Amino acid sequence: MKLFYDLHIHSCVSPCGDDEMTPNNIVNMAYIKGLDVISVTDHNTVANVEVVSQLAKKRGLLFIPGIEVQTKEEVHILCYFPRTDLIGLFDSELASFRTPIKNNSKIFGNQWIMDEEDAIVGEVEHALIMSLNISIEALEKLVKKYKGVIVPAHVNKLANSILVNLGFIPNDLDIHTVEIHDKSPLNENLVKGYKQIFNSDAHYLKDIHEPMQTFDLYEKSCEAVIDYLAGKV
Ligand SMILES: [Zn+2]
Ligand SMILES: [Zn+2]
Repeated sequence: MKLFYDLHIHSCVSPCGDDEMTPNNIVNMAYIKGLDVISVTDHNTVANVEVVSQLAKKRGLLFIPGIEVQTKEEVHILCYFPRTDLIGLFDSELASFRTPIKNNSKIFGNQWIMDEEDAIVGEVEHALIMSLNISIEALEKLVKKYKGVIVPAHVNKLANSILVNLGFIPNDLDIHTVEIHDKSPLNENLVKGYKQIFNSDAHYLKDIHEPMQTFDLYEKSCEAVIDYLAGKV
């Protein structure tokens, strides 16, 4: 079945995510636009994943638990998991790779954690803008441990992309899909053999994708999305 997706959306816990990117606003916008599958992939945190997951379920949207990790190579890697409990366990292990520097919200932005009513219930204290002290290789192993899959983010963008920072996609990494930024030029030779997905990387509500990108899945489930991204189907 063909499903409309947008698997790269930032919520208000991402410092650069607009404060209007609340759990309800994200889910309602995706619903109004007619998307079938969404993921919230905040920078280095999963703090709003569970709440968006619950709201998406109520709206009949398929929600993929996700996160955008900035590795020590300063490369952005999207990580997707089949269940929220698994991304939670992954996140607990990721904690040891964080730099304990406090966020300055006046400079970098708010890092709000919200509940199902869009009420602020807390704030992530450490600066999510910092890279984690984990290599892409180690991240890939940790994601796999919790049945997840990695997808290098916006590979053709000039900042924080695997192709710019490393110059290539290492063969020994278990990568089958890359995310393409649709407003930057792409050297197709560098991504030959990889599946491509196109997401919004929305930091503002208006940027969440219209229903324009589809993938063909064997069923509407998180497992089917993970299998697709992992090159199993
Ligand atoms: Zn990014
Ligand atoms: Zn992003």
